[in-house]
Amino acid sequence: MPIRRDKRDRYVEIEVSAPQEPLWVRCESCGELIFRRKLQENQYVCPRCGAYFFLSARERVASLVDDGSFTEFLPPRVAEDPLGFADQIPYKDRLTRARKETELFEAVLAGSAQIQGIPVILTVMDFRFIGGSMGVGVGEILALAMERAAQERKPFVFVISSGGARVQEGVLSLLQMVKVVVARERLAQAAVPYVAVLTYPSTGGVLASLGGVADLTIAEEGALVGFAGPRVIEQTTGERLPPGFQTAKFALEHGMVDAVVPRAKLREELSQALSVLVA
Ligand SMILES: [Zn+2]
Repeated sequence: MPIRRDKRDRYVEIEVSAPQEPLWVRCESCGELIFRRKLQENQYVCPRCGAYFFLSARERVASLVDDGSFTEFLPPRVAEDPLGFADQIPYKDRLTRARKETELFEAVLAGSAQIQGIPVILTVMDFRFIGGSMGVGVGEILALAMERAAQERKPFVFVISSGGARVQEGVLSLLQMVKVVVARERLAQAAVPYVAVLTYPSTGGVLASLGGVADLTIAEEGALVGFAGPRVIEQTTGERLPPGFQTAKFALEHGMVDAVVPRAKLREELSQALSVLVA
């Protein structure tokens, strides 16, 4: 029976029927074989051990907003592959492949929506799209979404799943950190609230810019919150890291986030927080 690593990267799928839609999924955490539909119904949390699986951006949107309320914004046109970059494959081909595999234009999806009746501007990252990295396209989508939130006076909600900057765009990707923080400042001037939701993983330049400057920062249970990975930090500093380093609980105990919320309660907690912030 063929076994392969899934694009979600955290579990192995066993192909029982059609290769595109395996019926059964194995949890890498506890080894349980789970019926795919059951996993979907449980919002991609293992029903046996509670391990969290990745959500795609569209699955995340569906899990948070009122049915049928999401209207996607058209992605802005930006210069693609400004450096003419190639690693194992040309960056242009990598983009094309990511678009085909994820059915997304970029690593972030933006739109207007309602969360339990409260209108919001929602942006959600997708880790499957080149590691949820932020290049010029992602920076532009986020900045325009925040501008719109400020104009329409709707709270801005940003769900992060990112490894950081898009290395294939070099320094231009780092400049996005400045751009999104400037756009965030305009939100603040317009007194429009900004809520960040950190999921697995929330790291690198995305956490170190927009992810770190929200009015309210919620971490999903199972989130990874940090700048560089633990191995890199240990090698650089020569120090051993404390247990539970970069977990959501660790981030809460050290004041980096305001709350840790299980996936099943995220929509409810968000709507409660938003109702206070917009009052
Ligand atoms: Zn499990």
